[in-house]
Amino acid sequence: MGDLLVINNLKKYYPISGGVLGRTQAQVKAVDDVSFTVKQGETLGLVGESGCGKSTAGRSILRLIEPTEGEILFDGKNVSAMKQDEVRRMRRDMQIIFQDPFASLNPRHNIGKILEEPLIVHGISSSAERKERVKRMLEVVGLSPYHATRYPHQFSGGQRQRIGIARALMLNPKLIVADEPVSALDVSVQSQVLNLMQDLQKEFGLTYVFIAHDLSVVRHISNRVGVMYLGRIAELADKDELYTNPLHPYTKALLSAVPVADPDKKQERIILQGDLPSPANPPSGCTFHTRCPQVMDICKQVRPENRNMGNNHLVACHLYEEF
Ligand code: SF4
Repeated sequence: MGDLLVINNLKKYYPISGGVLGRTQAQVKAVDDVSFTVKQGETLGLVGESGCGKSTAGRSILRLIEPTEGEILFDGKNVSAMKQDEVRRMRRDMQIIFQDPFASLNPRHNIGKILEEPLIVHGISSSAERKERVKRMLEVVGLSPYHATRYPHQFSGGQRQRIGIARALMLNPKLIVADEPVSALDVSVQSQVLNLMQDLQKEFGLTYVFIAHDLSVVRHISNRVGVMYLGRIAELADKDELYTNPLHPYTKALLSAVPVADPDKKQERIILQGDLPSPANPPSGCTFHTRCPQVMDICKQVRPENRNMGNNHLVACHLYEEF
């Protein structure tokens, strides 16, 4: 399968202004030179602590946030160079699911109206066809057609996320950016929603960018996983490769916190010192050096470049320089 999404050197900087004249004094580098590709039909997981830039990256791909720099190629088209009306048309094919579906569902509209809205916005089909599509999508996500007359507050968290998924599917998209779609749900409901997303991926040939702060959630659903730290990708590899052979000290620390199913397997928890530094004032060199258990002198001065360690396993760390 070919690449559906290609992201080259994506940056999103927010100016911090101050002083009497309100001039830009510094910049928050929320996303700083991020590149990756997503093949048709696969799921790329993006993982990292809150504030690492993963959600900003996800929204920038859809141009819900305007990127500062970089190239977004989707289905062979250059999204980054599109005018706003072209972007709006293209959003039929690129949809987003949010962490808190309740906040994104209009509480005064019933579910039928909420689901019909994207069809109306894109001038699609007659009222009867729209109603038919609503009915079909409710069934597809495991709800019932009669739910169309209910209101968001009448549903549980898991059901609301199913509605969020149904709405994203209304226009038959190719790509879905799922921004922490199960983080607000109980663990038992999480796996139901993840299973549903996997089933829908097969049924509709969907491609996902799946954003989460938890490596165990992403493992379930991803083909490849990128680990982000302070706006950059620290490591990116196929799922099995990343989980069995993590190279970056940050990935190792995150993985050491994931519970293992095998009780005989001893796992030492790596506790990271300190908090995530502010992206407005990131550390010099390798931005992870203030918390890295394997920090060396060079790390404080020189930013490590991404290196391909074979099998498309990319890592940005001076420990692997000699390779
Ligand atoms: Fe740690 Fe240095 Fe590698 Fe950064 S470059 S992760 S500080 S060893």
